Amino acid sequence: MELETMYRKLGIDKTVYRFGEHVLEKLQERFREIDRVAEYNQMKVIGAMQENRVNATHFAATTGYGYDDAGRDNLEKVYASCFHTEAALVRPQITCGTHALAVALAANLRPGDELLSPAGKPYDTLEEVIGIRDSVGSLKEYGISYRQVDLLPDNSFDYEGIRQAIHEKTKLVTIQRSKGYQTRPTYSVRQIGELIAFVKSIKPAVICMVDNCYGEFVETIEPSDVGADMIVGSLIKNPGGGLAPIGGYICGTKACVEQCAYRLSAPGLGQEVGANLGLMPAFYQGLFLAPTVVASALKGAVFAANLYEQLGFSVIPNGSESRHDIIQAITFGTPEGVIAFCKGIQAAAPVDSYVVPEPWPMPGYDSDVIMAAGAFVQGSSIELSADGPIRPPYAVYFQGGLTWQHAKLGILMSLQKLCEAGIVQLDETQFA
Ligand SMILES: *Cc1c(COP(=O)(O)O)cnc(C)c1O
Repeated sequence: MELETMYRKLGIDKTVYRFGEHVLEKLQERFREIDRVAEYNQMKVIGAMQENRVNATHFAATTGYGYDDAGRDNLEKVYASCFHTEAALVRPQITCGTHALAVALAANLRPGDELLSPAGKPYDTLEEVIGIRDSVGSLKEYGISYRQVDLLPDNSFDYEGIRQAIHEKTKLVTIQRSKGYQTRPTYSVRQIGELIAFVKSIKPAVICMVDNCYGEFVETIEPSDVGADMIVGSLIKNPGGGLAPIGGYICGTKACVEQCAYRLSAPGLGQEVGANLGLMPAFYQGLFLAPTVVASALKGAVFAANLYEQLGFSVIPNGSESRHDIIQAITFGTPEGVIAFCKGIQAAAPVDSYVVPEPWPMPGYDSDVIMAAGAFVQGSSIELSADGPIRPPYAVYFQGGLTWQHAKLGILMSLQKLCEAGIVQLDETQFA
């Protein structure tokens, strides 16, 4: 068969390819569901662009101060329409997701205020932003205190604990949608809405911020549809659609976003400055592509979950669970498994495919880490990428895939490497 030959040329054995096809046979309904969500979200994005009369003048580059930057201002209106918020800040000057979150927090908190995380520990990089780990310029240094309520043993919200943790100083509540590198499940938008409603029932004036990283366009609603005052994310993840080479966004109430703009640039300047540097075509077109790119990444995640589950490995989320972000964890139980998987992802990449990833002692981690990424945009994790800390339980986290076909090749290649390393033996009689 011609397609099988093509895969053979890229290094995928017949057995691996056929096992993949066998797994895929049962996923057609699942994929249709993913496509339906993508279709809905595609209409949402096109609607937002039409409503704001996007035209060629919006793609023009600006430099210097960037006063009267129509493309930038209109892109922010498009984001606000798309996520149903009063306002948005979408800028290349926001360098990454952590920066966007740091701006949103520092802009809306003042000395003496308290920040509350009602659902456990936030993402690693936020520990230094908040000052959970001592760090130069943290919120803690500015006299902003932090309180955390951990999840109950069954991973549900500790509503009684949250009630007790909210007091007169509580100004802002931060909720992280994706599990990141934790073992708890990712929250659905509906669950986030319930948590926000509970917090507001105790103290209506509290600002509710959601770290929306990896969650955008996975469902038909976003946290801003269920009461969040701010949603925050990175443009080199879902909403950049793989085309944005840098950037972050904050969408929310006019009051919150205004605070963010004054913090990002300077008091008195706010949203008026910030040249677009010629990035508008990538930002607009990336947002346009984002729903289908997210769908491709989701299909890859579902495929990998089912494939590795069938081979007896533990996977989170499992093969049949509903999805609320694009991250897939697979536990191999040995360093060799993690390394072989990452080598496969790397070998399937369009960029740097000839590079062989090795574990190394990355700053900020307490064990060696192996990373695989062959991306057009460096560090982009909406592109197919994987990383695994070399420590028990020897799990690998992977995400992304600009096209479903590339995600599929990456996963087949990971299995190919596991077979070559003798970690997996495929028994063709079970699926031929
Ligand atoms: C990626 C991510 C961030 C921000 O990370 P950057 O690498 O700074 O973009 C924050 N929170 C979560 C849950 C993330 O996945």
